[in-house]
Amino acid sequence: MQVPTYEYKCKECKHRFEEFQPITAFPLISCPKCEGEIVRLIGRGGVVIFKGGGFYQTDYRSPEYKEKEKKESKPPQEEGKKNA
Ligand SMILES: [Zn+2]
Repeated sequence: MQVPTYEYKCKECKHRFEEFQPITAFPLISCPKCEGEIVRLIGRGGVVIFKGGGFYQTDYRSPEYKEKEKKESKPPQEEGKKNA
């Protein structure tokens, strides 16, 4: 059984480290070395793909279009969170 591995990188000191933790674990938010801000890289345990659901290209459409869109009131699609 494979343990999900999350790779983190510190924005401050560039320290890179891996953390083994279940998907339900609270994500790390700070560097263990300098407590700087860290970013989570794609772990080997699972690939998360964001397909860009909820991305709208309607910013410059006409007011009527926006009104229509409002009436349809689609909830933001949250597809694309694929747990492979
Ligand atoms: Zn750091």
